[in-house]
Amino acid sequence: MEEQKSKDSGGLFFIEQSIWTKMIAHCQSEQPMEACGLLSGTGGHAETIWMMENVENSPTAFAMDMEQIRRVFRQIEEKGERLVGIYHSHPTAPPVPSSRDIEFANYPEAAYIIVSLAKRIPEIGIYHILEKRVTPILFYIV
Ligand SMILES: [Zn+2]
Repeated sequence: MEEQKSKDSGGLFFIEQSIWTKMIAHCQSEQPMEACGLLSGTGGHAETIWMMENVENSPTAFAMDMEQIRRVFRQIEEKGERLVGIYHSHPTAPPVPSSRDIEFANYPEAAYIIVSLAKRIPEIGIYHILEKRVTPILFYIV
């Protein structure tokens, strides 16, 4: 399937079912703290999950360790993949980016995935964040 990438719309995002399940399980396992991680793959298709340490160890914020990021980026490159998504959880807030999330969104090419655990069933929002502008992305679990 050819992906048509548009600069104006948020575009489309595809995520493997197994990655989806692992991402939600990771977020649930870190409760009540925020969890974070990276997704890599090709095009807008997430095929590999990289669970990252939240060095903030906070229920309302996350930050990744620069050394771990460098190591994972190297492994992503070795696999011939690219960074396609950045996820983190909101243990008690809805799946929308906080002002801090928008402030620190430095990868305009990546999809920002927020897993909200505020309700019994996890809710997920996926966005592009470019120059502080947030655009929802349509996503499919494949
Ligand atoms: Zn957030």
